[in-house]
Amino acid sequence: MSDGIVYLVGAGPGDPGLLTLRGRAVLAQADAVVYDALLSPRLLGHAPAEAERIYVGKRSDRHTLPQDEINALLVERARAGQTVVRLKGGDPFVFGRGGEEALALADAGVPFEVVPGVTAGVAALAYAGIPATHRDRASALGMITGHAASDKTADPLDWEALARWPGTLVFYMGVKNLPHIFRSLARAGMDAATPAAAVRWGTTPQQTTVTGTLATLPDRAAEAGLEPPAVIVVGDVVGLRERLAWFETLPLLGRRILVTRARAQASRLVEQLDALGAETVEAPAILIEPPEDSGPLLAAAREAGGFDWIVFTSVNGVDAFFDALAETGGDARALAGVRLAAIGPATAERLGGHGLRADLQPATYTGAAVAEALAEAADLDGAAILLPRADIAPPDLADALTAGGARVTEVTAYRTAADPAGAEAAAEALQAGRADWITFTSSSTVRNLVDAVGTDAVRDSGANLASIGPTTSAALREVGLAPTVEATEHTIPGLVAAILEYERTV
Ligand code: SAH
Repeated sequence: MSDGIVYLVGAGPGDPGLLTLRGRAVLAQADAVVYDALLSPRLLGHAPAEAERIYVGKRSDRHTLPQDEINALLVERARAGQTVVRLKGGDPFVFGRGGEEALALADAGVPFEVVPGVTAGVAALAYAGIPATHRDRASALGMITGHAASDKTADPLDWEALARWPGTLVFYMGVKNLPHIFRSLARAGMDAATPAAAVRWGTTPQQTTVTGTLATLPDRAAEAGLEPPAVIVVGDVVGLRERLAWFETLPLLGRRILVTRARAQASRLVEQLDALGAETVEAPAILIEPPEDSGPLLAAAREAGGFDWIVFTSVNGVDAFFDALAETGGDARALAGVRLAAIGPATAERLGGHGLRADLQPATYTGAAVAEALAEAADLDGAAILLPRADIAPPDLADALTAGGARVTEVTAYRTAADPAGAEAAAEALQAGRADWITFTSSSTVRNLVDAVGTDAVRDSGANLASIGPTTSAALREVGLAPTVEATEHTIPGLVAAILEYERTV
């Protein structure tokens, strides 16, 4: 016997943040992930890079792989000893054919576990500001498939029972049959004034909601061009939306924003933009790599205690320096008598992660400001200063410190290289003409994006350009582009604030 297993995992309704912790944990152990359409690609990022990703793209009308072949695939993979994650939208046992898959596994004697998920019928409502139940308005919740409800075939639904239902009705797969569903409920005696809504692409930045009543929703949905996927909700709870709609009022909802930062560092920016409703596209322009020759960095790390100051100008510089320090057998104690400068709060925070407090942090986060602040804080004459920096760092900081009399040791701590996968993602997003913003968090993100896709592609995309600060803006101007906004505070939150402010005024 092999020790293969299949996890039937609910992926949630769309927002990748609505995956459960258990779902994430089993994804992290997967040898193979079998997934459908409608799923955020970000969910697959929880699986190991080497796990096989098998798309079976099941939709109600178009089966890329027939259900029995999906069942057979799961059985076969588990029998081969694999840990298989069958990732299904929403909850696997709510209109997901998860029951059929589980039965096939049970029949085949294959071990399986079910990881429930957040179902669209509750979550899309929640993001539309509609509580599924409410003490005064709905004491029951019915989930119904609208798939088979039609005039043409024998109707499987008991409309009288549904019309009498003491609460909320939620129809899945009901867009195509919406007129029939509403006609049937009205005929069976439901009040024509009962509030109703359709929520499309619920919990995603593309979410839209059409509201009306039992009498008016079908026409309004047709006028709005409503298409699947959408859940349709009927009941008095819909009336609460006016006061409770919170998601569709997020300031960046649906704005498509390209993040050009190196993938390893992008998460904070991506999280902040996501939380404001934006659709972020990770198109990293750069990869952070070790220097071609790590000798100078290692030598500097070995002699770290002999410097008067170490000036860190990026989080990457901190990481690379401490990696080098560890490689030489040292740790933070080597810096006992050394004073430390950090260019900004993120860099200072990263030093904090090593138990170190920055002695100096300039008010603005540029190289020139660091040099000025240092000259004010200390006697630079003869001071030994270490600068662990990027290979392409501009010479201004070292020059300014040297001019002040310091003995500067500048070492390449890391290298920025073009990221080919990111370049492809960027080219695609810009060509589609759907990028509202491109964010630039360093001059190297500017240069590498432009090298990858060309200035014209950036200009012609019509996207607004957000720059984190003057150095990055200068890099944009150098290639003939103009920043739409420049952050006042040269940090990730500052960059997000600049975009928000601009969006508020247009
Ligand atoms: N197992 C899934 C449902 C699968 S059936 C769950 O528990 O949510 C597919 C139907 O789910 C779609 O036709 C639509 O009615 C609904 N649906 C799925 N994702 C949705 C979303 N993001 N917004 C609105 N409806 C969605």
